[in-house]
Amino acid sequence: MRAARVEVDVNEREIMEIAIVGGGAAAVGLLDALAARPGDQGRGRSGAGTVSVFEPSPQLWRGRPYGPDLESVLVNAPPAIMSIRSGDFGHYAAWLGNRGAEHLDQLLGQPLVPRAVYGEYLADTAEKAIAALGEQGWLVRVVPARVTEVRRTEARLVVRTQDGHEHPATQVALCVGGGTPPDLYGLAGTEGFLADPYPLAQTLDGVPAESDVAVIGSGLTAVDVVVSLAARGHTGRITLLSRSGVLPHVWQRPNERRPQHLTTERVAGLGMVTLDQLVELFRAELADENLNEFLAELLGTETEDPVERLRRQIAAIDDPSTGRRVLQEAAHTVGPFVWRLLPEADRALVRRHLRTAASVASPMVPVNAATLMGLLDAGQLTLVPGLQSIEVDNGRFRAHGNELITAQFVVNAVNPPPQAVPAMSRDLVRSLTQTGLATRHPSGGLIPADPRVHVVGDLVGGGSFITSSIPGVAAQAARAARSLRSP
Ligand SMILES: Cc1cc2nc3c(=O)[nH]c(=O)nc-3n(C[C@H](O)[C@H](O)[C@H](O)COP(=O)(O)OP(=O)(O)OC[C@H]3O[C@@H](n4cnc5c(N)ncnc54)[C@H](O)[C@@H]3O)c2cc1C
Repeated sequence: MRAARVEVDVNEREIMEIAIVGGGAAAVGLLDALAARPGDQGRGRSGAGTVSVFEPSPQLWRGRPYGPDLESVLVNAPPAIMSIRSGDFGHYAAWLGNRGAEHLDQLLGQPLVPRAVYGEYLADTAEKAIAALGEQGWLVRVVPARVTEVRRTEARLVVRTQDGHEHPATQVALCVGGGTPPDLYGLAGTEGFLADPYPLAQTLDGVPAESDVAVIGSGLTAVDVVVSLAARGHTGRITLLSRSGVLPHVWQRPNERRPQHLTTERVAGLGMVTLDQLVELFRAELADENLNEFLAELLGTETEDPVERLRRQIAAIDDPSTGRRVLQEAAHTVGPFVWRLLPEADRALVRRHLRTAASVASPMVPVNAATLMGLLDAGQLTLVPGLQSIEVDNGRFRAHGNELITAQFVVNAVNPPPQAVPAMSRDLVRSLTQTGLATRHPSGGLIPADPRVHVVGDLVGGGSFITSSIPGVAAQAARAARSLRSP
């Protein structure tokens, strides 16, 4: 009788077996959010749950951006924007504590640490979350293998890794990031072409100080390359080659004022949302500032001389006006939420101004802006827009843009577009779509077609036009944790 009773209990168990694919910032945000609520969520009705994190690279918890690298490779945002705990703006600043003083950006008045230091924050947060989950009865383990396939059996999902092992799962969360830079100019394998710039500590090691270097791109990765070359004492010519020549805007000193109108809560209450409504909410934030002047300044991003614009933005780091600050915060908080609610015509309008939108949403930090300005003024750095092609001639690269540029080294600072499928996950994504567990969104990314599948980060289908930042990833991770807890 007693034995039979035990058997019934065992059969009734609904053991949660959560598989997290990818072990970068998104996985950390997910573990942190899963650990946040004490109780027995991991136990199902009885017995313990398991969480398996699959990550083949040595950069566990750090992902592509936050592994060991040069000190000049800095986080791109002030601490309030770098918290991996959604809704807790002070979480990262509290972890940083006194260490922040060593890394103060004088112009911004905020600590900006090397990205490797931020990686320690992610690793510490993951370890604390794992300990907290352990106390709640979960068993968390890391599987150092690439996931190649997820399929369903009658009762469960099965996660298959490259080594052929199969792991049962009740739910799967894809946290696979955005992958590596595309090779837009067909230069892979050419000597002197640095196909993926990170870690810059390794890639720039083979670049002699006096060599001429061309960087493809003019966004934040290109800025990382330029400031790192400068930090290593580069004396040769540096050229930023791109189609648009648009540089990222420059962060302004954060102020205490939080948006009151252009907030996710306010937008959620609107039901259908249009760009005009968002502009009205933005106008309400501006108080006595002139909206039309602000918009004219913004729309000049793609036509004005980028060097003069950079100079003006450096001078405006302390400017008290709120417009740019509000827009930057909203791009990462309201933006990912509202994007899907906008009518297609409004989304198309924003896409037409993609360069402007990306450059205002993902600004460079003032310390890097000052380095760029110094190099531009000294004539060592030039910006060449209109890039069309790059060829190799007698061991030298020849880049055809608004000017012809030659260089011994070309650094690929082009980022994959948002919602790109990382090369490492192509077979995994194929298996999900072939088995009907997910579908491809027409404008990129993946949409779960089964409630047991979740996506966090850049691969989220139909997501916004800018790549995920930490606040966006953290918010998605918190939402995914809620659905994982109550499948
Ligand atoms: C160079 C760079 C700098 C950035 N700096 C900032 C910044 O300062 N501030 C900011 O807010 N945002 C920044 N970002 C944006 C960045 O996208 C997020 O901050 C964050 O790193 C995204 O985390 P993730 O976990 O989604 O992706 P990732 O960090 O890319 O991690 C994904 C992980 O998934 C693994 N993986 C992929 N496929 C598989 C598979 N099939 N099986 C198992 N594992 C797999 C990969 O190995 C990788 O470790 C930066 C992005 C880049 C590229």
